[in-house]
Amino acid sequence: MQITANNPELTSWVEVPPGSDFPIQNLPFGIFKTRYLSAVAGVAIGNYVLDLVYLHENGFLDGLGLPAGIFNQKYLNNFIALGRKPARAVRNRIAELLSVGVDDLQRNVAAREIALIPMSEVQMQMPVFIPNYTDFYSSEEHATNVGSMFRDPKNALLPNWKHLPVGYHGRASSIVASGTNIHRPKGQIKLQESEFPVYCPSLKLDFELELAFITCKENSLGTHITTNEAEDYIFGFVLFNDWSARDIQQWEYVPLGPFLGKNFGSTLSPWVVTLDALEPFRVKGPEQFPHVLPYLAVEGNKNFDVNLEVLIQPDKGEATTVCRSNAKYLYWNVNQQLAHHTTNGCNIQVGDLYASGTISGPSPGSFGSLLELNWNGQRPLQLANGEHRKFLEDGDTVIIKGYAEKAGVRIGFGSCVGKILPAL
Ligand code: MN
Repeated sequence: MQITANNPELTSWVEVPPGSDFPIQNLPFGIFKTRYLSAVAGVAIGNYVLDLVYLHENGFLDGLGLPAGIFNQKYLNNFIALGRKPARAVRNRIAELLSVGVDDLQRNVAAREIALIPMSEVQMQMPVFIPNYTDFYSSEEHATNVGSMFRDPKNALLPNWKHLPVGYHGRASSIVASGTNIHRPKGQIKLQESEFPVYCPSLKLDFELELAFITCKENSLGTHITTNEAEDYIFGFVLFNDWSARDIQQWEYVPLGPFLGKNFGSTLSPWVVTLDALEPFRVKGPEQFPHVLPYLAVEGNKNFDVNLEVLIQPDKGEATTVCRSNAKYLYWNVNQQLAHHTTNGCNIQVGDLYASGTISGPSPGSFGSLLELNWNGQRPLQLANGEHRKFLEDGDTVIIKGYAEKAGVRIGFGSCVGKILPAL
């Protein structure tokens, strides 16, 4: 029987609760630890993690040509470097093993008990080692909002914005796994009322709602990747919170761009949702006008209909949803981002992370940062516990969630969580 994981008809003998992010059609890859296991690779199904090391060592993945020990590693880099085709074969084999009517694993009680670990018993780790991190600025609504606030609403977009996907090189070393606390950064801030800057904890700490992709293949220095080739290089996607200290950022960024207002921490969701799993959720992106240069031209649907939301949970009190957006709004798609990134011959590496930039939608409730949601402090948000927020306070936890949904199939990302602790 040839089973493809994307088949919406498939059901699993592993219980998948309604509304779960991880049905059999998803099968995202991640790295997990337990009390008994050091970091190894796994796949999410319902409320369980499937241990890929156990499956591989016990013959359940035979015939796929996988190198020995490929899952017994603290990062997915060597696995994803095999390429999208081998990863697709693994995902399809897992879908087969987990399918109703396929007995190999289901009827092998001893194997099943070891291979399926309740999510409540695992600690998710960084899924990949990230050699390089790039942050784009691909949401027209976000760029327009920021341009309107800080420059001129009539000329909110700078002249280059519709001709190229603007981006900058971020810092990879401070990207952390979901659940890692973030200390409020200190830095140089220029208060409006004073002539000279001060050094103090940021007063304008913000989140940025982003989706990021991870590359699984490299190009050699001097060569470029076309928009048509780009998808061979893209393994999958994660949710990304690009924490930002707006006051540090505003004072430092001229003329070279983002630096210490950004590199104190960024948070990644732990499950890498494959590009394959998102195939059914492709949609057309916004019309691009003026027409892009030929090296940025794409054919077909290159955007993804992924619902995104951000919640803020204060130290005392329940979480409040403060933003609902969607990745489909992005003006520049991932094919264009990767083609543009390498058009000068820049070499990309396995495990590199490319974030979309803040994903804002057209309506005020869909803005992907506090800066926009409260319009630079002019309209503080009210939380469910009655408190107001202009920017994040110590003790606030920011939770980003994301999922695509169609025909009863929900491909979720889990959540990307980080709590703000006082400055050190
Ligand atoms: Mn960003």
